[in-house]
Amino acid sequence: MSLSSSPHVAIVGAGPAGSSAATFLARQGARVTLLERHRFPRDKICGDGCTPRTLWMLERLGIGELPGTEAAPVDSVYSVSPGGVVLEAEIPPRLFGGKACIIPRQLLDERLVQHAVRAGAELREGVRVDGLERDGHGIRLQCRGGESLRADVVLGCDGSPSVVRRALGAPDFPEREGAFAVRAYYEDVHLSHPRSLAFFWEEELLPAYGWIFPLPGGRANVGLGIRADQLAVSRLKLPELMERFCASPHVAAELAGARRVGKVKGHHIPFGSFAHHTLFDRALLLGDAAGFVNPLTGEGIEFALESGAFAAESVAEAVASGDFSTRGLGGYARRWESRFRAAFQLNRRVMNIFERPRLLDRVIRAAGRNTRVRDELIDIISGDATRLSWRFLVAAVIGR
Ligand SMILES: Cc1cc2nc3c(=O)[nH]c(=O)nc-3n(C[C@H](O)[C@H](O)[C@H](O)COP(=O)(O)OP(=O)(O)OC[C@H]3O[C@@H](n4cnc5c(N)ncnc54)[C@H](O)[C@@H]3O)c2cc1C
Repeated sequence: MSLSSSPHVAIVGAGPAGSSAATFLARQGARVTLLERHRFPRDKICGDGCTPRTLWMLERLGIGELPGTEAAPVDSVYSVSPGGVVLEAEIPPRLFGGKACIIPRQLLDERLVQHAVRAGAELREGVRVDGLERDGHGIRLQCRGGESLRADVVLGCDGSPSVVRRALGAPDFPEREGAFAVRAYYEDVHLSHPRSLAFFWEEELLPAYGWIFPLPGGRANVGLGIRADQLAVSRLKLPELMERFCASPHVAAELAGARRVGKVKGHHIPFGSFAHHTLFDRALLLGDAAGFVNPLTGEGIEFALESGAFAAESVAEAVASGDFSTRGLGGYARRWESRFRAAFQLNRRVMNIFERPRLLDRVIRAAGRNTRVRDELIDIISGDATRLSWRFLVAAVIGR
């Protein structure tokens, strides 16, 4: 659908959600302004893991495969359970070809935003939005420094915590519906599984879990996450947990001889199980601002990118009907709910299994022995499962 006579769409935040929405909207002919408080290239605290669905979304956006100097290809999952049960499993080809990769966000986000600009979006860097007010038939964004910008539709893509979310009156994420995660970069890394996404559930650190993701040039992204309410109860500090994670036997063996470069940095991750408030008159929330994150793994890039596509399709419908109210933009909620909701809710429940060391040992042991349990586990981790089979539940109880 053409949006050539279209209203002005202002997008706050040029991360994956904002750049994806900007690209799809600009391609449809919309007038798009992308406001970003930082200047590119800018860092984003992340595990840098791009799931098969993320790669599929990059393809849909028209971003080709990145060279091996920029992205480390992976095609399997390597995990170590609390009791030391090891699972090595290929990502099944039915999941978007079974390929994933790790791309430093500094690089990925710059590629995405350049792509949006090439598609026709106007990027304004160094502009920080502080609030918004409704103004007759539009929305006026207030920027730091006194500037204001009028738009017909606003997309809140400003991550977590989100200024736009708060200004629209949506509640903050409750502590139990979010996590805190930290990551650090290492170099001179010699991993035992250099083509795997490696996950470690160390017993003494549960319910926190950690990862080592390979990067090109002998580097790796190493990190750890824990639910916000559990972190508060434990009274531990994340950098302290990270030190213990890196010193734990399996992780220390992987990092032997490696050096940390830069600081350990952390950020909040909102869970998709609390994604309710996403649709407003003349405004939508996308990506982390909406809470579109797999609660089990903390992965959110794919949902941010896909919510950009959903927002663009829904704005096009609103333009066609001339209705920018929640009714005219309602296709957005219908789209993301039918695609994300069941997976988010399932994965929030599966967390209960993953927090119990003996249950997790049994699931990982069963996945090593039974292909169907293994495939289901990979579907769950990738956010593609919407229900649990009896086979999986039995595996969690008896380990077969
Ligand atoms: C430690 C950690 C590890 C993670 N690992 C992974 C992983 O391996 N794989 C994965 O898929 N996901 C991972 N995630 C989650 C992932 O980082 C997010 O889900 C993803 O970045 C969401 O994209 P977004 O575009 O919604 O928000 P963001 O990427 O946060 O982008 C928001 C943008 O808005 C800008 N902005 C913010 N406020 C304003 C403002 N007021 N005005 C203007 N601009 C503003 C910011 O500068 C930023 O550029 C991880 C998260 C953390 C914290």
